[in-house]
Amino acid sequence: MKKALITVMGLLALTSQTEAQECSNNTPFAGWLTQFKQHAISQGISAPTLNTALTGITYDPSVIKRDRQQHQFAQDFRTFAHKLISPYRLKMGQKLMQQHSKLFHDIQNRYGVPAYVLVAFWGLETDFGKNMGNESTLRSLATLAYDCRRGNKFGPELLAALRLIEQGDLTVAQMRGAWAGEMGQTQFLPSYYLRYAVDFDRDGKRNLIQSTADALASTANYLQQLGWQNGQLWMEEVILPPNFPWEQSGLEQSYPLAHWSQLGVVSANGRPLQGSASTSLLLPMGKDGPAFLAYDNFKNAYLTWNESLLYSMTAAYFATRLAGVKPMRANRANINALSFAQIKQLQQILTQRGYDVGRIDGIIGEKTRLSVKRVQQQLGMPMDAYPTVELLQKLQK
Ligand code: CA
Repeated sequence: MKKALITVMGLLALTSQTEAQECSNNTPFAGWLTQFKQHAISQGISAPTLNTALTGITYDPSVIKRDRQQHQFAQDFRTFAHKLISPYRLKMGQKLMQQHSKLFHDIQNRYGVPAYVLVAFWGLETDFGKNMGNESTLRSLATLAYDCRRGNKFGPELLAALRLIEQGDLTVAQMRGAWAGEMGQTQFLPSYYLRYAVDFDRDGKRNLIQSTADALASTANYLQQLGWQNGQLWMEEVILPPNFPWEQSGLEQSYPLAHWSQLGVVSANGRPLQGSASTSLLLPMGKDGPAFLAYDNFKNAYLTWNESLLYSMTAAYFATRLAGVKPMRANRANINALSFAQIKQLQQILTQRGYDVGRIDGIIGEKTRLSVKRVQQQLGMPMDAYPTVELLQKLQK
């Protein structure tokens, strides 16, 4: 689920994209809470709900500490995917698809999203409901809402959590989850819970924590609302010809499958590409690594679920593996990927040269990728947008 911080079962994939500037809270927490309660009353939350939910609630410094941590992170797609898609998760995912086959059948009928996709998110987010977090959601949200850097995002989340209690979806005691306020088997923030959760087991409550049916159907409902197209693929591994025009790769452009076929691109099983969809070619490890076509389902649903390309590709790849697709192909050559510190160095150099890489944060986001592509063009290198040690060395000369 789209997160405050993109945490992946304890592995941190992205640094907080929020305001980096320092600020300080002028009001003590207790005073702020009184003001917030008045605001909540004006927004239609009843006094009894407020009393049960927020009386005696205290500030949790550990939440802020985690929120402000700088996370060093540089893992290539293959390493990241192998770490997250463990043999245990693959086996468990397959087992659960069988065990809940009727449920998945009903969910696909209603929302058009296949089991593979749902089970992959379920596994990555909480190990299939086993690790949902046990922090007090209200305390976490109140702490983050109070923080001067985070109020705009988490004030509304705290209010949404109160509405969930008011509506009877969850009790205060049930409301426990990840440290940044995500709840349930696929980790919904309260505002998403409020908007997309469904009562699929028809017990009168939308319980994404205790009801697997509610959690998975709500996940499917959210994906459908994001534009999931039933019967269309999401991501497909392909084989590229040796002299591929690398500049045509990247999320920023898409072409019909017939165009890729003309260039000699075939499916990873060696067969011709099927259909008329428009897709983007993704090279998560550059020209010598695996290649994938990203369909609209990937771009609309996965990248909204989590804006990290690394996470989204991992979730999408996990789903293909659950659907029975073979593991990705070996690299065609040795790839000298940059370390976290080297990515920062590269971002500094690119910024000095006038490219817009966004924040110098050691994370390869879309702006960094596009800048790498432009500087590769300038240097006469293959434009695969993947920063390597060779590129950094050329730029340091
Ligand atoms: Ca229910």
